[in-house]
Amino acid sequence: MKHIRNFCIIAHIDHGKSTLADRLLGATQTVTAREEKAQLLDNMDLERERGITIKSHAIQMEYKYKGEEYILNLIDTPGHVDFSYEVSRSIAACEGALLIVDAAQSIQAQTISNLYLALENDLEIIPVLNKVDLPSANPEEVSDDIVDLLGCKIEDIIHASGKTGFGVENILAAIIERIPAPKGDPGEPLQALIFDSVYNPFRGIEVIFRVINGEIKKGQKIKFMATNNEYFADEVGTLKLNQVPKNVISAGDVGYLISGIKEAKEVKVGDTITDAKQPTQNVIAGFEDVKPMVFAGIYPVDTEDYEELRASMEKLQLNDASLVFQAESSAALGFGFRCGFLGMLHMEIIQERLEREFDMTVITTVPNVSYNAYTKKDPETAIVVNNPSDLPEPSRMDRVEEPYIKATIITKADFVGNVMSLCIEKRGIITNQTYLTTERVELNFDMPLAEIVFDFYDRLKTVSKGYASFDYHPIGMRASNLVKVDVLLNGNTVDALSALIHADNAYNIGKKMTEKLKELIPRQQFDIPIQAAIGAKIIARETVKALRKDVTAKCYGGDISRKRKLLEKQKKGKKRMRQVGNVEIPQEAFMAVLKLN
Ligand code: GDP
Ligand code: MG
Repeated sequence: MKHIRNFCIIAHIDHGKSTLADRLLGATQTVTAREEKAQLLDNMDLERERGITIKSHAIQMEYKYKGEEYILNLIDTPGHVDFSYEVSRSIAACEGALLIVDAAQSIQAQTISNLYLALENDLEIIPVLNKVDLPSANPEEVSDDIVDLLGCKIEDIIHASGKTGFGVENILAAIIERIPAPKGDPGEPLQALIFDSVYNPFRGIEVIFRVINGEIKKGQKIKFMATNNEYFADEVGTLKLNQVPKNVISAGDVGYLISGIKEAKEVKVGDTITDAKQPTQNVIAGFEDVKPMVFAGIYPVDTEDYEELRASMEKLQLNDASLVFQAESSAALGFGFRCGFLGMLHMEIIQERLEREFDMTVITTVPNVSYNAYTKKDPETAIVVNNPSDLPEPSRMDRVEEPYIKATIITKADFVGNVMSLCIEKRGIITNQTYLTTERVELNFDMPLAEIVFDFYDRLKTVSKGYASFDYHPIGMRASNLVKVDVLLNGNTVDALSALIHADNAYNIGKKMTEKLKELIPRQQFDIPIQAAIGAKIIARETVKALRKDVTAKCYGGDISRKRKLLEKQKKGKKRMRQVGNVEIPQEAFMAVLKLN
C-alpha cells in the first residue's frame, strides 16, 4: 500500500487536463506511442467532439522512481458543473490532486470550486502551471495568483506544458513525494467507494471503485449498501488501457467490478460496496441521490414514433442513470416524455444521443426547473411541478417556490459593473465580492436557477467580452412571485410554450416572446396571430402575415434539378416542425424563450 498513489486532476475547462493526462500515460508507458491517440481518456465520440470529459474514468500507471515501483491511479473527473456530484465522488477516492492552472488564463471559477471540493476532502494539492510554452503565458503573475489562492510556496508550483511534455517528470516525482500513500486496513470488512460506472452492452454495468478497507475478491458475495442489492463479483481487476482481471483488489487500490448488473440505476455513484456476509459498520460518508435540475418535454416529430422513442430512452437510461423520464401528453404535441436532466449540457447530450445513436428526430420543449407549488386549501404540502402547464390555477394558489443557486463568477475588474447589472437583472442578490488580485474579482450571488437556464451563459460571455468564468451550486428552494405566461397561436394555447416567469418581468418577456415567435414561425396562407397571456389576460400580440407566393416560382420554370433541390431542402427543413392545429411550429420556436435578447 505504501507504493500506491491515488490522485485526480482538477482544472478549469480547457486549461489542459486531458492533454496532461495523456502525457502522464505516455511517460509511464501505460500507452505506447503507437497506441497514443489525442485525448485518450475522452473515449466517447461525443466527448471528443465537444472536448469535454463527460464520464469519469480511472486508469492505472506503473512508474519506477528512485529504484522502486509505484502504482499511480489517475482518476479522471468530469469538468462541467452539470456533473459536479461525480466530480465530488471522484475527488473523495483520492489522496491528492494536481491543480492545473493555464499560465495565460490564470485561476477561473472551476479552478476554485473544484479546489474547494479537494480541500474539503483533505487532498494534498500539487499546483501545476500549465501551457508555459504559450507566448501569451504570464508565469510570474499567475504564480502569484496561485500562491495567494493556496498559501503555498512559489517553489511548490511545477511549471509544465502538456503540449511539449516539459515538466512531466517533475509532476510524476511530486505525485510520489508529496501525495500520501493510502491508509486503510486490508484485514477489516470490505468498504469500497463507488465513484463511477460504465455501461458495456455485452458485459453489463462495470462498476469503478476505490477500496478503503478490506479486500474485494473474485467470486465474493458483495452488497451495495444504499440499494441493499447483493451480487457476486464475477470479475474484478485493474484498469490499464484495457481491463486487467485480478483475483483480488486490496485496501488503497482502485479497480473495476463486473457482476451481471444490467441497468445503470442499480449502481449509485457514492454508494459503499461491502461483503454480504460480513458487512462493514461504516458507510462511506457523503452519499447523495443525484437529482435532476432541469426538465423539458421530449416529443417525437412524427407522432407514430412514440413507442420507438420510449424504447430509445429506456436504452439510454440503462447507461445513464441520471436521465429520468415519465410519459406526458401535451395538447399541442401529443404523446411524449417529461425528462429530467442534471443541467443544460446534459440535456443537449441526451438529445444528441437520441438522434445519433437511435436515429430519432425529436422536439425538445422549453426547459424549466422544478417548482414547489402550495395551494390555499393545503398550504403545507408541496406539489412538485416539473411542467409549467401543471401549475394549479392562480385562484387556487397560495405560493410557489423555485430552486436557488449560489453562483461564483470570476472576472476582470473592468467588467464588474456589467456582470453585476446582468446578475441583478437575473434576480441575483450579491452576497460577496473579493478582489483576488487588483485585476481579478470573485463575485458571489444567490440567484434563481431558472435564470441560469434562460440564456445566462451567453449574456455573461457578451458583457464580459469572454473574461468571466462561472460555476454554481444549489442552495435550496425560496418563495418567488411567479406567474404562468401562456402563448396562443391562432387563438389556441400551445401548452408546450408556457413558462413560469417572475411577475415583474412577465410583460416584458411576453412581448419579447411574441416578437421572437413572429420571426421563427413560417408564414402560411393565412394570418397567424401570436398572443402572450397571463390567465385570460392578453399581455402582448404580434401577427405573422399571410403568404401566397409559391417558392418554386422564382426558378424560372426551366431548371428542373434546381427546382427539385429546393423542394428537398424545403422538406428537410420541415423535419423538425410540428403541426399544432393548423400552424407549423419549428423546433427553434420551442427554445425561443431561451434566447430573447
Ligand atoms: P481540458 O478541457 O482541461 O481537458 O483541456 P484540454 O487538454 O482538452 O486542452 C485544451 C486546449 O489547450 C487544447 O486545444 C489543447 O491542445 C491545448 N493545450 C493543452 N495543453 C497545452 C499546453 O501545454 N500548451 C499549449 N500551447 N496548448 C495546450
Ligand atoms: Mg478534457
